[in-house]
Amino acid sequence: MHREYSIMDRVGSHIESVTRRRDAKQALFSAFSVVAMLCVTALLAQPHFMQEPVEVNAVTEPAPVSTAVPAATPEPFRQNEEYDLILVNGEVKIPGDFELRTRVFDGVEVNTVMYDALCRLMDAGRADGCRLWVASGYRSVDKQAEILERAVQNRIKDGMSEADARADALLTIQKPGHSEHHTGLAVDFNDVSYTFENSFEYAWLKENAAKYGFVERYPADKAETTGIEYEPWHFRYVGEAHAKRMDKLGVCLEEYLSLLEE
Ligand SMILES: [Zn+2]
Repeated sequence: MHREYSIMDRVGSHIESVTRRRDAKQALFSAFSVVAMLCVTALLAQPHFMQEPVEVNAVTEPAPVSTAVPAATPEPFRQNEEYDLILVNGEVKIPGDFELRTRVFDGVEVNTVMYDALCRLMDAGRADGCRLWVASGYRSVDKQAEILERAVQNRIKDGMSEADARADALLTIQKPGHSEHHTGLAVDFNDVSYTFENSFEYAWLKENAAKYGFVERYPADKAETTGIEYEPWHFRYVGEAHAKRMDKLGVCLEEYLSLLEE
């Protein structure tokens, strides 16, 4: 009996201990499940957990609180539909689909659109005693790249570093694609120098150019708007009506285009 009891007892206690272990396992499993659920809940509560890698150093300093309103993304520039009013400057590149035909005036290629007006302007100037000549007209993007590269190389020869040479050259030479000469609607007069500013020819142009559809493109007082330093020798064809209006309003092309948009 004792033995029997003892066996039964042992079997019983074995069953009991298995049951206890199973209970303990179940309890452990349940506890683990709760912890796991809590972890998942906590992680899901952090909205950027899945998207952003954790930065090790990100927590060393509190993020500065910005009160500034974020700047709106500027809308891409839309060209005016009129061909004569095409804008090309430091920010606006010549459109890839811009088409032009050129004709040679006195050895210089210009856009056929302004050829006749240029002839009339030059004739009128001559009749009034001007010694005017066109030094530069249409220039391709490749040609502009070549001019810029030559200027950079010259500065490097003079001892500048490549980066300084490029930055310095870009102060006076437009990036390829950003020169108004690509349109064929711009001309540089005479010796393309600041002595032109004091000439009779410059005074005559300021007085008369608009009658033939031309405007001084980079006046001294508009440098901030045009992004180009004063260039008394550079004139731009915009057509008679626009030139006269711009002259009257005293606005540069950038300002004029903004006015037309309103
Ligand atoms: Zn020019």
